[in-house]
Amino acid sequence: MVGISAAGQVDTSGHIFHATGLLPGWAGVPLKREVEAHFGRPTAVLSDGHAAALGEAWYGAGRGRSSVLCLTVGTGVGGGMVVDGEVYRGAWGAAGIVGHTQVVRDGLPCTCGGQGCLESYVSGPALVREYNARVAGQPALTDGRAVVERARAGDPAAREALAAIGAWLGFGLASLLGALNPEVVVIGGGVSQAGDMLLESARESLRTYGFPTVKETPILPAVLGPQAGLVGAAVLAHQQKTR
Ligand SMILES: [Zn+2]
Repeated sequence: MVGISAAGQVDTSGHIFHATGLLPGWAGVPLKREVEAHFGRPTAVLSDGHAAALGEAWYGAGRGRSSVLCLTVGTGVGGGMVVDGEVYRGAWGAAGIVGHTQVVRDGLPCTCGGQGCLESYVSGPALVREYNARVAGQPALTDGRAVVERARAGDPAAREALAAIGAWLGFGLASLLGALNPEVVVIGGGVSQAGDMLLESARESLRTYGFPTVKETPILPAVLGPQAGLVGAAVLAHQQKTR
């Protein structure tokens, strides 16, 4: 049995049915079929956001919880929801596109071609934009990790920038949690390395904007790091094998 965590969106038959311009030619690849033909073994394929959620729900920060909403905040914002140990893919695999939840009508342009998506306010590039706006006149940074490092070293502008995108994260979660009501939220991805410098403002924002019955939902840091997707792919392979 082979398990794969793939970039792009994967439909329920293991086809890549959507990929951004970052991966030219990836959309349309029948990944499950091709890997099965090559290795001669049954293959389970998940999109990376779904796989990371499954990994964190089984062996990471969501372990033991009945339902987990996982967001990965990095270059973009990915996501997935796990209920009773199973990832929820939606009718054809498109569930979990939380990064493209609309948070501002006609807002900032997004990599998807839309405007006002959560990803435009919460991702690594958003963190860089928030930081550079606060230190005008200094050489601009281009990498979100550098902003996180400066925040750790005590740079007030870097800490403010993290708090700013954390507030947007909490605002986006306020909508998502009303629709989904997970037991916990897990935040992974490169930007989540900032820990409470990001998550405290997200919690505060959720308390401000969230519906009373969901606004105290715990927001936890992911624990599996970049391995979450691989762990999730292994979990899915095991689940399909034992069915
Ligand atoms: Zn978008």
